[in-house]
Amino acid sequence: REAEAWEARFQQARTRDGHRVEVAANLGNTAHAADAVERGAEGVGLLRTEFLFMAHAQEPDLDTQIAEYREALEALDGRPLVARTLDVGGDKPLPYWPVPKEDNPFLGLRGIRLALTKPKVLETQFRAMLMAAAGDPAAGAPAAGATGRDRPLRIMLPMVKDISEFRAAKQILDRLLEEIPEAERTTDVQLGVMIEVPSCALLAPTLAAEVDFFSVGTNDLTQYTLAIDRGHPELSAQADGLHPAVLKLIEMTVDAAHAHGKWVGVCGELASDAVAVPVLVGLGVDELSVSARQVPLVKARLAEVDLDEARRQAGLALAQATSEAVRDALEVR
Ligand code: PEP
Ligand code: MG
Repeated sequence: REAEAWEARFQQARTRDGHRVEVAANLGNTAHAADAVERGAEGVGLLRTEFLFMAHAQEPDLDTQIAEYREALEALDGRPLVARTLDVGGDKPLPYWPVPKEDNPFLGLRGIRLALTKPKVLETQFRAMLMAAAGDPAAGAPAAGATGRDRPLRIMLPMVKDISEFRAAKQILDRLLEEIPEAERTTDVQLGVMIEVPSCALLAPTLAAEVDFFSVGTNDLTQYTLAIDRGHPELSAQADGLHPAVLKLIEMTVDAAHAHGKWVGVCGELASDAVAVPVLVGLGVDELSVSARQVPLVKARLAEVDLDEARRQAGLALAQATSEAVRDALEVR
């Protein structure tokens, strides 16, 4: 099976009956973008930019960031890049940004909350992304593909709890779009939010009217919905994203997004779970972003199911009471 999946890895990801779902790769290092493409990724669905920040002893400057993001965009050769703004705090401290000791770091100053306390850092990150996606003016005459249209940039914000954080970030982005001349930046940019905090899924209809897209971070969404630390040595096995409560939140997110013509990705680990793939597709998810290694397998899994069957499985899963019951109902034994 694995050999077959590898052979077919460059085929467009579709269900057996032709329903299109993009399969993209999660990335922590822009140097791995070329490898992801080689494995059949149709884009990068989550670039964890915090690893770029962690690799340096201090905040990487504008040029360093431009070079990094450009490396990914060039390797992607016209495929979309979903770049997440810095997501530190919680389990991911940055040595040069000491955060006061917190009793509950997972409920503390992390993700977009932390970034908004350092608007200059967020601004530099936005600027670097916008400029990287414009191509390299230093490389001489703009090559074909030097316009933003050919380097689709999707910026997403982590750990958003409601529309206020999105609006604050969007204000910064909008100002940059006015400031930076069009020739020096991409014009093909979207700004979206991650659905990782249950409040955002519950309020998805209000968010969907303003954001360009959602990407569900099932690792954190599961942690915050079930109140189980995702890294807990004894409990983390119970933090199963196939819990019907989590699926219900994903359903609400997708329904709200589609009502507003917006797309929804899933970039948490659930996206590469063979049992979950049909469920997510049945819920209407438009993009699955998984580790590069898993891309061929997820594409192959998609090609096994029809959309109707996926919808049936989603309905069945939503009707269960626990994640164990969901797995029992769906797993082919
Ligand atoms: C998630 O929470 O599901 C996610 C994709 O983000 P991270 O794993 O980087 O927290
Ligand atoms: Mg997360």
